[in-house]
Amino acid sequence: MTENPSQYVRERAAEGRKDLRYPAAPEPLTAPVYDNHAHLEITDGVEPLSLKEQLDRAEAVGVAGVVQASGDIESSRWAVDAAASDPRVLAAVAIHPNDAPAYAEAGQLDHAIDVIDELAAHPRTRAIGETGLDFFRTEEDRRGPQFESFEAHIALAKKHAIAMQIHDRDAHDAVLETLARVGAPETTVFHCFSGDDAMARICADAGYYLSFAGNVTFKNAQNLREALQVTPLDRILVETDAPFLTPVPLRGRPNAPYLIPLTLRFMAAELGLEVDELATQIARNTVTVYGSFSD
Ligand SMILES: [Zn+2]
Ligand SMILES: [Zn+2]
Repeated sequence: MTENPSQYVRERAAEGRKDLRYPAAPEPLTAPVYDNHAHLEITDGVEPLSLKEQLDRAEAVGVAGVVQASGDIESSRWAVDAAASDPRVLAAVAIHPNDAPAYAEAGQLDHAIDVIDELAAHPRTRAIGETGLDFFRTEEDRRGPQFESFEAHIALAKKHAIAMQIHDRDAHDAVLETLARVGAPETTVFHCFSGDDAMARICADAGYYLSFAGNVTFKNAQNLREALQVTPLDRILVETDAPFLTPVPLRGRPNAPYLIPLTLRFMAAELGLEVDELATQIARNTVTVYGSFSD
């Protein structure tokens, strides 16, 4: 997800959240892992954290690095600057599917794609993302530019030989059809995977990665737990999508990469694995997808 920050603050305020303090840090992991999708440029809570504070808190609990996802020109530039300034950050750059129609209506979509193309050439940019389709927030008559933008982003991931992070909201069939029709990039990640076990099998068979977010812990998300169960271990990633999707039991509080241990421990319990074993596997998958953080 990506939102204009000021709009985001308004929406969150409207939710009537009572406790906007960052929660206490969970017990540290003993094997490090990475958060492969977060929006650290969006400040949240009554005491917003700086980029360095976010990364220090994450590192202190064993979350060694973060892939900073983007949704428009400004956030993509922010991501590249963050990745260039701190070895714990890698950048993903893109125009979000919910932003593509507005760029197109302003006659700016081609220009925006050109900017993403330039930013994708930066050595710390390791993914195009988030791109994809969102039929939840975008009405039918504005979806043409979403498809146009998605296909342009697929081409950029191939051109730069980097991964692609897909945002798929209420658009599973159309996303899978588009990938099959135009050919997916070699490394394709479904960020915040939202399908069921049947879709997880389709993705795994196609070689796609499935990234699970805090909503896998939500009571009503049995479909995500069933998807997790059928996903091959070498295709699993973990993310926060911070500041969104704070895991149980902290829903309503600001989310941040240092809360990854909650989601990871939950996933390990679901899978019947030792936490260290799952963390080590996910860390290996993350480096396979995005390359080394220290390069
Ligand atoms: Zn998203
Ligand atoms: Zn996101």
